[in-house]
Amino acid sequence: MHTDLSAVPVWLWICLVVVLSVQGLWVFNDARKRGMNCWLWGLFCLLNTPTNLFVYLIVSRAILGSVKCQACSARIRKKDAFCPYCGEEQK
Ligand SMILES: [Zn+2]
Repeated sequence: MHTDLSAVPVWLWICLVVVLSVQGLWVFNDARKRGMNCWLWGLFCLLNTPTNLFVYLIVSRAILGSVKCQACSARIRKKDAFCPYCGEEQK
């Protein structure tokens, strides 16, 4: 089986690049807000769509999770015993 890449119309390539850029940027910002490795996740989500986006959403939402600090309401990780922003102990 031989797939000729030049047979794919240019507009389809442009759409793909736009979708991947938006996805990468969104993940970069989201990961940064959550204190995750934003460069790693941003680049990871530039590689393909939508598989890598689902992987990121599962890891960031279900595995790491996030809660609000009881003192300053900043988004912190569930496993944090102390808020990294204000230092308040989480119960
Ligand atoms: Zn706090």
